[in-house]
Amino acid sequence: MGGFLQQYLLIVIRHLVSKIFFLPLSPHSCSGFSSFMHPLRFQPLFQRYLWGGSRLSTVLGKPSGPDSCAESWEIADHHQFQSIVQGGPHDGKSLAELMHSSGNDIVGPETFKAIHDSHVPESLRGRFPLLLKFLDANQNLSVQVHPDDKGAAHLPTPDLGKTEFWYVIHADPGAKIYAGLKAGVSAVDFRAAVEQGHVRETLHSFEPQAGDGIFIPAGTVHAIGAGLLIAEIQQASNTTFRVYDWDRVDSDGKPRPLHIEQAVRAIDFSMCPVTPVRRNNHRQANSENLVECDKFRICRWTSEEQPVDVEIGNDESFHVLMVTRGSIRVAGEPALLGQTVLLPACLKSTQVELLPGSEFLQIFLPAPTTSRTIS
Ligand SMILES: [Zn+2]
Repeated sequence: MGGFLQQYLLIVIRHLVSKIFFLPLSPHSCSGFSSFMHPLRFQPLFQRYLWGGSRLSTVLGKPSGPDSCAESWEIADHHQFQSIVQGGPHDGKSLAELMHSSGNDIVGPETFKAIHDSHVPESLRGRFPLLLKFLDANQNLSVQVHPDDKGAAHLPTPDLGKTEFWYVIHADPGAKIYAGLKAGVSAVDFRAAVEQGHVRETLHSFEPQAGDGIFIPAGTVHAIGAGLLIAEIQQASNTTFRVYDWDRVDSDGKPRPLHIEQAVRAIDFSMCPVTPVRRNNHRQANSENLVECDKFRICRWTSEEQPVDVEIGNDESFHVLMVTRGSIRVAGEPALLGQTVLLPACLKSTQVELLPGSEFLQIFLPAPTTSRTIS
């Protein structure tokens, strides 16, 4: 008991010292005495843009109100928008506060090191690395591109690059995704198309279906078309270069600004047109890797007639769970369609139960040295 008290006091003192001197905790502070013994849930942050609809409320059950709502930011640690914890011992705290006091406990030692690395623009160090949203496109989103980390670090206001991934929850018949340029479109061709108002002819497009995953690396021209409800996983960046806005004007009759020069610099013209990761209906396993890149990894878990129990974690990484069909139970607590749960790295292993006919995305950044199997 004396040993326990001594250890506990040391941890308290270390937390106090880090707070007083405004220092991040050491990457090895994960102690087993963390206050993150439960999954974290956050209040959704609603964003209203011209192109939003009502599906965040009618399909996902969000309290977003009757007006058109474009996005529900589920987890965000951004200078303008902060996720606020909903319920539990940290109720009311912002994600930035938690990342400052206990970043290592939340994201795990490898990610903690990476987000404090000198390559990360100073103003962004220590932030939660991903931004997770649900998005309802009632109209087309603008055609746009995001820079990569290198390009974004050299902007007047340095930012992270933005690689993103879309998971289609619902697609109206005929809805379109625009992802990448058609094969062979060069910078010269693209610039000419912009000048002549023919951008849409240069874009590769396809009609997605529910269950498709679409990987959009930084440097890929893209647009989400009207009629799609999507879960979006992306780097926590807010830099977008708009190329084409479908000849729309805002409520004042003015077109939104375009960023052609920055966009042409950011586009990777060597990139192939993007094709979706499509559900394999003959697959027997309950899980499927949708994407693995250096920014995030995403796995889809599904159950059909029978409930399925899985254990998530124990790999020194945080895990985010986004429910995209039916409902699941996370450490005994229900999580419904459209809800998102963050499992801090210090939680170790968490029991997740998929009720029949349900599905969720598991988003994580495993330590590079950790060997793991998912199936
Ligand atoms: Zn985008």
